[in-house]
Amino acid sequence: MQLVDLDLDRLLSSFVTFLLSLIQLLGFNWKVLLLFLFLIWSVTIFTRRAKQSKDSPSLLIEGSPSPQAPFNGSDIPPIYHHPHSQISDRPTSKSSSQAQKDLMVQVAQKQDHRVKQPYDAFLVLDVEATCEQGTDFEWPNEIIEWPVCLMRWKDKSEQGKACQLEIVDEFRSFVKPTWRPQLSQFCTDLTGITQAQVNSAPTFQKVLKMFARFLIRHGLIDPKSGRPIQRFCWCSDGPFDIRDFVVKQCFISKVPMPLWLKGNILDVRRVVSVWAVAPGNVDTTIQPSARSHIQSLNIPQQLQALGLPAFQGRLHSGIDDTRNIARVMTELARRGVRLEPKTSINPNRRWNWMGKHGEVLEHTLMFQ
Ligand code: AMP
Ligand code: MG
Ligand code: MG
Repeated sequence: MQLVDLDLDRLLSSFVTFLLSLIQLLGFNWKVLLLFLFLIWSVTIFTRRAKQSKDSPSLLIEGSPSPQAPFNGSDIPPIYHHPHSQISDRPTSKSSSQAQKDLMVQVAQKQDHRVKQPYDAFLVLDVEATCEQGTDFEWPNEIIEWPVCLMRWKDKSEQGKACQLEIVDEFRSFVKPTWRPQLSQFCTDLTGITQAQVNSAPTFQKVLKMFARFLIRHGLIDPKSGRPIQRFCWCSDGPFDIRDFVVKQCFISKVPMPLWLKGNILDVRRVVSVWAVAPGNVDTTIQPSARSHIQSLNIPQQLQALGLPAFQGRLHSGIDDTRNIARVMTELARRGVRLEPKTSINPNRRWNWMGKHGEVLEHTLMFQ
């Protein structure tokens, strides 16, 4: 456009010079001269106005041609085709390329389901314990199976974002009960655990030591102090496993709760149950008023709620329950749920049947 402007101005001034010379040469009178000058002025004004209206609209109506970017669907970044903006600021070539870049980032972010995940490892646990028909959480259950799936991120970025969670190792041991070493038929039918399996199993104290070696091998705890040295958290189907079974078992076995078992836990059942009623609620917090509407989902129901294939293995087998909870964890991670422990556990909780030094006060029990 600048080239055209220069040529036009030069042409006009040459033309004026030529006319003035002609007037001088031919000796025109002043009226003719004025008429010529008026004509020249009119032509000049008209030409400039036409040029300005073509080159300089202050706002660009969406879809109208732009001098920098001739109308062509592929030249205009799709961000300018937003249905809610009829009129947009005219993009300069610089802002246009910036918009292209911003758009690419937005698209990349949409394709990438990764969210910031504060924890590096997850210990999924679903214990099985002694029970009788009709016993509830007031009963002094003893742990008879200790199955753990260790899960880690497969795709954690430098910014701590991830969405692919997988099982990297498993630990499983049966545990010998000591207060009531004989399993009830109900318990064996429920869990599939036989008397022979628990008879040959190590005691809870021994299992804790074996499991601590597993944690050390994976670099999760300090070998000397037993303190966590990586960010990991315990995950279970409901709060029962650590809140009830572990606390009771530590009392019966007369062992303090290990440091690596203390702290908040991630209640997977709660996360999925909240997710089922409010799928957009990625941080799984919910107003207290809405809590009463939340149905507590068991593992098969959690899998169903997340659209996953049915429970795999035997329900109430500790290791199978644990692996299926891990499947739920993997799906929550894939959906961009921030996985962190929010359920607090009281390691000093006491039950009525607890006497001194691990003694079970049998006379306080409803079932004998
Ligand atoms: P779960 O993780 O649901 O397989 O159950 C863990 C433990 O809870 C079992 O090993 C039993 O000790 C106890 N339990 C589960 N269901 C029942 C039940 N219907 N009656 C008595 N105890 C049960
Ligand atoms: Mg369970
Ligand atoms: Mg179970």
